[in-house]
This record gives sequence, C-alpha cells and structure tokens, in this order.
Amino acid sequence: MKTLPAVDAVIVGGGWAGLLMAKELGARTSLSVVVLERGPSRQSSDYATDMDELDYAIRLRMMQDLSSETVTLRHDGSRSAVPLRQHGAFLPGAGVGGSGEHWNAQVPRFLPDCFELLSKTTARYGANALPEGHAVRDWGITYAELEPYYTRVDKLLGTSGQAGNIRGQLIDGGNIFEGWRSEPYPTPPTKVPYFAALFRDAAKSLGYHPYPAPSANISRAYTNPDGISRGGCTYCGFCGRFGCMVGAKAQPTNLLLPIIQKRKNVSLRTGARVRRILFEPAPKFAARGVSYVDARGQEVFQPASVVFLASWTFNNTRLLLLSGIGEPYDPATGRGTVGSNLTHQVTLPAATAFFDQPLNRFMGSGSAGFLFSDYDRDDLDRSSLGFLRGGYFGARGYGFQPIGAFGVLPNSVKATWGSDWKKAAVFFYDRTATIGFAGEHLAYKTNLMDLDPVYKDTLGDPLLRLTLDWRDNERRMAEFVTPIAVQVARAMGAREINAFPGLRSYDATRYNSTHVQGGTIMGDSPAHAVVSPYLQHWQLPNLFILGGSTFPQNASANPTPTILAFVYRTADAIIDRYLKHPGPLA
Ligand SMILES: Cc1cc2nc3c(=O)[nH]c(=O)nc-3n(C[C@H](O)[C@H](O)[C@H](O)COP(=O)(O)OP(=O)(O)OC[C@H]3O[C@@H](n4cnc5c(N)ncnc54)[C@H](O)[C@@H]3O)c2cc1C
Repeated sequence: MKTLPAVDAVIVGGGWAGLLMAKELGARTSLSVVVLERGPSRQSSDYATDMDELDYAIRLRMMQDLSSETVTLRHDGSRSAVPLRQHGAFLPGAGVGGSGEHWNAQVPRFLPDCFELLSKTTARYGANALPEGHAVRDWGITYAELEPYYTRVDKLLGTSGQAGNIRGQLIDGGNIFEGWRSEPYPTPPTKVPYFAALFRDAAKSLGYHPYPAPSANISRAYTNPDGISRGGCTYCGFCGRFGCMVGAKAQPTNLLLPIIQKRKNVSLRTGARVRRILFEPAPKFAARGVSYVDARGQEVFQPASVVFLASWTFNNTRLLLLSGIGEPYDPATGRGTVGSNLTHQVTLPAATAFFDQPLNRFMGSGSAGFLFSDYDRDDLDRSSLGFLRGGYFGARGYGFQPIGAFGVLPNSVKATWGSDWKKAAVFFYDRTATIGFAGEHLAYKTNLMDLDPVYKDTLGDPLLRLTLDWRDNERRMAEFVTPIAVQVARAMGAREINAFPGLRSYDATRYNSTHVQGGTIMGDSPAHAVVSPYLQHWQLPNLFILGGSTFPQNASANPTPTILAFVYRTADAIIDRYLKHPGPLA
C-alpha cells in the first residue's frame, strides 16, 4: 500500500456534510484538508443543458453504481438477506456534491421535541406508552442549542418560506406548529403550483393551517453570507434527481465548491473509494487516517490528524464495522452500538386525486408547494389513536415528466392495456396529483445494520446488511392519515381518489425517500451512542461522524437542514476549542 504525506484532516465523502466541513475548515483555518470522494467530479455548469428524463430520472445516472456496491435487506433477523440490485426505496448518490446535487431541496426543521423524544414522550404518556421493543433515545442536545445553527443553514441555502413562529410569536400563514425561529426566512416563499393552491384552499376550508413549503430552490435572487449569489427558480420541472440547470437550487457544487476550489489548503480527490479507517488501538485509541482505492485501482494510505466520516448513513456505519471500531450492535443481547437505530422516514402517497381540469403539472420545482402540520405537533394527544408521533401532509408541484408520471389511473379504470387504457392515460396525465404524507419513524431494537455474512462488493468487502421492517405504530399512523388526505382531496374537487392501500412490510421497490438514518447515533453516553452531540467518536476523539447516521430516530421532516446544522456546530467546536486542546469536547 502506498503511503501519502500526512495531512491535518481527511474527510470521507464529498456531499453536503463533507463539503460543508471542508469549506469551514478550509476557509477559517490554515489546516491542510483532503476530501476523498468515491464518485466522479462534478460542477454546477455540468447541468446547464442536461434535462434528460430517461438518463437522469429513469436510468438514475447520478446515483451510486449498484453493480459495484449495494446493501442487502431482510425484514427480520430470522431470514437471510438479499442484495438490492436495483434502486428502489432510497437513492444514494455518488460524485462530488453527493445526493445534494439531485435532491429536491425541501428544507423543514425538526420539531423541538424530536431531540428529546424519549424523555418528552415518557413524561407525557408514561413509561409504557412507547411501543414494545422500541429503541427511542434522546439526542443529548436541545432544539434551543441547535437553533442558531439552523439559522446559519437557512442563510447558507437562502431558504424561501414564511415563518410561523418567530421567538414564540405565532404568525398566520406560516407553520404555527414549528419550533421557534430567531429570524424570518432569508427569501419569500416560492410560487404556488395550481394543484398546491387547490390543496391550500381546501385544507384551510377544513380548518387546517397550510403554509408554503420551505424551499432551497429559491424564489428570487439571493447572495448568502459567503458571498455566493444565485438567481430565482424558473419552475422548469427538472429538479429532484437532476442537477439545477439555472443554479437556483442550493447544491454543494454551487454553494460550497466555489469556495473550496479557491483554497490552496483544501484538495478534493475523486474516484477515491475509502475502505478502512486505520487507528491505534487501546490505550492510545486514535484514528491514524484512512485507506482507499484510487481511480487507478491502487491501494493508498492517507495519514491524517483528524478523520471525518461524511459518507452518508450506510457507509458511515459500514466503514466503522469494516474497520473494527466500536462494538457492533447485537439485538439479542442489546450490547454494542454500531449499527443500531436504523430508521427510514415514513412517506406515503396518501391520496392520489384525479381531476376534470388540467393541472399544468409539468411546471414546478422539487419543493414548491403547500404543507400542513396539524398532525405533526407534539401537543396532540395520540394516546387513544394506537400510535405515537405524526407527520405532515403536502401537495407539491415537482414538475412531472412524461415517462415516470404517465399511466397512473383511477381505480375505476379497469383497462390495463389497449386503446381504452391509452385514452385514459392520455386524459389523466395532466389531471392527476398526489397528497403526500411524511411521518416519523421510531427506532426499534430489531431494525439495524451489520455486515452481511455472504455478499461482498467488487473489492471483496462484506456488504452492509439492513434488517428493517415497519411495525404497528407506522401501520396505524398510515391508516389514520389516509382518510384525512382523502377528505382534503375531496374538498379540492377531485372527481376520483385512490386512497393509499396501507403499509405492509417494508417495500424496497417503492421510492420512500433517501432519508435513512441511524447506525452511528449520537447521545450523551458511550453506553448507547457511537458519537457525542459534537459528533465526536466516544472512544476515538480525533474521529468525527457527520450526517444522518448520527440521528437516533427519524423525524417527519427531511433531514438535510439538521445534518448541516450539526456540521456547523461541530466545525465551530473544532475550530474554537478542539484545535487548541485536542481531546474530548465537553
Ligand atoms: C432524489 C433525492 C431527493 C432528496 N430530497 C431531499 C429534500 O428535499 N430535502 C432533504 O432534506 N433531503 C433530501 N434528500 C436527502 C439529501 O440529499 C441527503 O440528506 C444529503 O445529501 C445528505 O448529505 P451527506 O453529505 O450526508 O450524504 P451524501 O449526499 O450521500 O454524500 C455522501 C458522499 O459520500 C460518498 N461516499 C460514500 N461512500 C464512500 C467511500 N467509501 N469512499 C469515498 N466516498 C464515499 C458518496 O459518493 C457521496 O458523494 C434527497 C435525496 C435524494 C436522493
């Protein structure tokens, strides 16, 4: 193995988390920083002419290559897992910018009580309220501690929206159930697609509190505190699964890369597939650097004083397991921490509504739309409903393209082929829209990640194995929310509605979201957590883990603002304190 000259910091993964840390360290210190990214190089100008649905949205050109590395899945520990050979429930990215290039840019914050879920739920409903076998944890941090970093994230992204709670003062038209914000959104809400406007009016007429979806596809020109300027969204409809053609969508390549590229102390190596974190064993316990296979297939050791894992949920967890760092979680004994608390946001097409009139749904962005969070707040007593926690409803104009969106028909259309089917498919193509629901996923002792004993990647390393299934809490939540979405669709004037048929087993073929969390969770004690709330490894203080792998359970909200808020907080702690006194951060 070739050994390279040592650097101060090595960052594994060049997505939102890795590049934000690289930008902070690179711009605010003189540390030498190397980012290792397994995928190809990318820049925002690559997308200027690339609106090809087949290439990006169907063949998924920006996603991880599953022929080289994938995960295996089983529903419970008594079965063998099988490799996922096609993308389905989640779409991990590869390449500079990671999934942040082809994300939708929906940017809600987590509710304050999410961070203290165990103690708040127990205090409110009693110790026996949480489902049997749950693994719900407090995060070891409060919303109030994180709020200033959320505000920095909004300013970084230029988030468009209408605040609903500024320092406790509720504002009509915003999300009055959200946690308090110290400042309004940096830019006003985006335009409202027609279908979302119908949803807004219907939800209001039923007594709900709709608000414009917070969006990092920005509504108008904005210059962020780093001096990066972007124009407003053109609602072209090619957004999630695509890079932004006009640069209105916040992406690592348009917000972070331009700053990193100007810094001589930061370098970015693509085609670098990290295999192991090398470390000094006890009593010294310190990371020494990482080994990777470079683009030419050569094995390389990159020594570093500080190691950051920012390779998303699956690889953050897998790299710890492959490297033998920490004790793997064992559901039979409850011992160990690495791999525990696997969760996946519960998203449902709760009601698919069919209209008489065209909806112009080819226009839109990945996040333009309206939401309501009346069933997402923590003061709603669910003790009689048979499930805990909740989520939010939404209607968005994503911009629907002809291949993916064609052929969704009302249940009353019985034809499955031929001219009747074609006639109905053409008629409903622009007359169909979905009211979605995004809900929380509690952590359970039996949902976890470990190394697969059978299947390996192309380098011969064991694949990550997911053991994951829905439980009654999620199924009952789906049963509860579906009629609400149907009621709203009816009030919107839909001529027919297909209701979500219900959650059964975890379905690896239906896209759920790429909001998979856990595996290296944070907490206030090494007894149940891999990292501290500063994302610092409890045993190896020069190892930091960034990203959703550190979340003890899944909130209803999309995770990226929370991921970035934690990166800012950790960067501050490292720059202000750790560099002066390396060691555990208190
Ligand atoms: C289609 C889609 C839509 C989404 N929409 C939203 C949304 O609207 N709102 C929201 O909040 N979130 C959304 N997400 C999720 C969001 O993209 C992620 O939360 C975010 O990108 C996570 O950032 P990250 O840096 O932690 O991980 P990633 O963006 O996944 O970056 C990790 C990087 O690490 C690299 N890597 C992995 N393993 C290795 C290795 N062994 N060696 C070297 N490099 C490695 C990967 O190639 C990747 O580039 C969406 C995701 C997808 C796919």
